[in-house]
Amino acid sequence: MINPKPRVRFAPSPTGYLHVGGLRTALYNYLFAKNKGGEIILRIEDTDRSRYVEGAVENLIETLNWSGIKFDEGPETGGDYGPYFQSERLDFYHKYADELISKGKAYRCFCSPERLQKLREEQQKLKLPQIKYDKHCLNLTEEEVEAKLSAGEKYVVRLNVQPGQIVKIDDVIRGTVEFNTDNIDDQILIKSDGFPTYHLANVVDDHLMKITHVIRGEEWLSSTPKHILLYEFLGWEKPVFAHLPLLLNPDKSKLSKRQGDVAVEDYRKKGYLKEALINFVALLGWNAGDDQEFYQMDELIEKFSLERVNKAGAVFNIEKLNWLNGEHIRHKSVDELLPMLKEELKNSKYAENQYSDDYLKSVIEAMHERITFVRDIIEKSFYFFERPQNYDEKIVKKRWKEDTPGLLEKLMEEFGKLENPSKEDFEKAMRGLAESLGIGVGKLIHPVRLALSGVGQGPGIFDLIHILGKEETIERIKIALSKIKHSQEEN
Ligand code: GLU
Repeated sequence: MINPKPRVRFAPSPTGYLHVGGLRTALYNYLFAKNKGGEIILRIEDTDRSRYVEGAVENLIETLNWSGIKFDEGPETGGDYGPYFQSERLDFYHKYADELISKGKAYRCFCSPERLQKLREEQQKLKLPQIKYDKHCLNLTEEEVEAKLSAGEKYVVRLNVQPGQIVKIDDVIRGTVEFNTDNIDDQILIKSDGFPTYHLANVVDDHLMKITHVIRGEEWLSSTPKHILLYEFLGWEKPVFAHLPLLLNPDKSKLSKRQGDVAVEDYRKKGYLKEALINFVALLGWNAGDDQEFYQMDELIEKFSLERVNKAGAVFNIEKLNWLNGEHIRHKSVDELLPMLKEELKNSKYAENQYSDDYLKSVIEAMHERITFVRDIIEKSFYFFERPQNYDEKIVKKRWKEDTPGLLEKLMEEFGKLENPSKEDFEKAMRGLAESLGIGVGKLIHPVRLALSGVGQGPGIFDLIHILGKEETIERIKIALSKIKHSQEEN
């Protein structure tokens, strides 16, 4: 092996956003490298000029940084094997294309788009299994090539694939996969605009950057025989290949935008924690051989191995992601969640309101066990941020009885007597009153919850009362008494 420590790469083409499949590829490369004390490189494959998207690279790097995957080398970090943008490495590709031409392993093709189109149509008519270039330009003499070059004719460089041979790939995940070169076209290596295609640039860079393991999505498997031929023609040692299983929708079709979000940025915007997304994506095709589902990055690094990556497609199950998000929230401390809640508040209708950190922390504490997203604190328990405007009619019907107003008057009287009450003081007062009246404490708890929150469920009632405080609690009970009585009179 070229290098005792693995060197792997994530080599995205900047399309405008980071696909969750891309995040999984980046993550598996990262976990594999860090598990083995190796290095991971970020290389931007930006040679397809027709797909250039303004701001795509910046966005990609920003999203990767957010995810917590750290690259040892790349556009931001630098390194000894740069530049890390393929568009800045054109000389390398030309050098090796020329070498292949001089060895007879590649050739210049001057065919016009019209000729190629005709060829394609003829082959389609014959229903050939594989549309292939007919090697027409391989028969040009050196003089003919020279003449065309001096006349400034446009050309591409093609790989000279010998038919009738078997190319074998030993894939860590898929085992041995064989391809017959009869089915491999004379792949274009350099386009007429002088830019390399993915195949040439990818192989040249993996070699020059001393990549030991190529870990990428299964959709690249069919390109791999062409890469193997390039390694052989250039006399280079091949890396180890590992092709990751496809990501599938719940109906087992290939993961698509139509059935949900595919951009990591979308999940981020929706409020998923990076820890949850990383945990979720790690399980799309890998498990440690047990039932464990909750992981932090450190433990993933410790446990990850390519040998435990599955061949079968991995189903993208959003319920599991939601569950993991809740779990990761519960593993965060109240102090960690505080800035997140503040951020959510800034983007909510309560942006103008002022809340003390202590107040917000006690709200987080009360809701910690009950949320899937941080913003649920605002949406599910809005009553910590404003007085209820309405009272759930079903709960009113069920809990607001004829004797309720009288009981609540007595309760307000008891609460009024308390000085600087703790949560326990409220509880004692309420339970004491119920006992002295010989009623179940539920006759107080449910109407009070309704009065304070407008709804029938939420955090523990004494948390609710204590967080809102004595004055606000009494005020809200008073408002409920006037409003709910009122609505009953109207009925
Ligand atoms: N540029 C390719 C992509 O966008 C890289 C594939 C590979 O890893 O070889 O995914």
